[in-house]
Amino acid sequence: MSLTVVGSMAFDDIETPFGKSGRIIGGSATYIAWAASNFVKPINQVSVIGGDFPQVELDALKAKGVALEGVQVKKDEKSFYWAGKYHMDMNTRDTLVTELNVLGEFKPSIPDSYQGSEFLILGNLTPQVQMDVIKQMKTRPKLIVMDTMNFWMEVALDDLKKVLKEVDVLMVNDGEARQLSGEYSLVKAARKILTMGPRYLIIKKGEHGALLFHENHVFFAPALPLDEVFDPTGAGDTFAGGFIGHLAKTKDISFENMKTAIIVGSAMASFCVEKFGTDRLREINQDDINARLEQFVQLVNFDIDLV
Ligand code: AMP
Repeated sequence: MSLTVVGSMAFDDIETPFGKSGRIIGGSATYIAWAASNFVKPINQVSVIGGDFPQVELDALKAKGVALEGVQVKKDEKSFYWAGKYHMDMNTRDTLVTELNVLGEFKPSIPDSYQGSEFLILGNLTPQVQMDVIKQMKTRPKLIVMDTMNFWMEVALDDLKKVLKEVDVLMVNDGEARQLSGEYSLVKAARKILTMGPRYLIIKKGEHGALLFHENHVFFAPALPLDEVFDPTGAGDTFAGGFIGHLAKTKDISFENMKTAIIVGSAMASFCVEKFGTDRLREINQDDINARLEQFVQLVNFDIDLV
């Protein structure tokens, strides 16, 4: 059961009230791969990097079962670079720098060895690239999940709407759901977005959890209350990786199983925010994940006697 992951692999520079990261490894596809590889192998990675991307990082991903044949290396160019700053309210951030570098001219090429992947996740990238990848898959994957961001709604809305028609699950945050639908109520926003293509919609609300919408059903997964959110960067991608990783592992794309998958995604995201970048995701093992999932079960478990 293989999973294809498309997204950025990057250098990030992050500032939070707790400190500065310096130049570290980030990118949407990097976080997705670190999270999903706990559940399914191989991960078929599709991305582009410059000659400056450290070999040791590629080796670390390979050791987690991530195939890198679909990662283009532009030896004489620089990797994507992103810098961001968080204030005390960790739910919002300022983007300080975006240097597209190799991402600017990225033309993905899906290797033959990736064909037949049953699960595809389109991490945050230009809608044109996301569409290009869908078109290159000779057999349509059983499930296509897509992440995006407000930036693409502003600069490439028409292309974004075309991709929406091709995917099964869309993931956005609450602000993006409002922007895409023009509705303030998230329930109304979801109803509208579900007419645009995806059959499932996940609205992420940072420390306030995530909502899963499908037809007239809705399910809510909380975020784990933590003493300290150290660095929220990549939490959304890590959530996405846990979500699709669980679905690919269980091969079950029912709404019931998606409920479990968003709890798994929330558990993975709760690790991500504990340290800078991917540091915490590199440390955890299956026991840590199981213990965290048990905390989620306890968090939402209650009895009630109805009269
Ligand atoms: P998240 O915090 O989950 O929204 O994702 C953070 C990651 O997204 C960082 O590691 C960045 O490198 C990456 N990123 C930021 N802006 C973009 C962009 N325009 N395209 C692709 N990846 C991006």
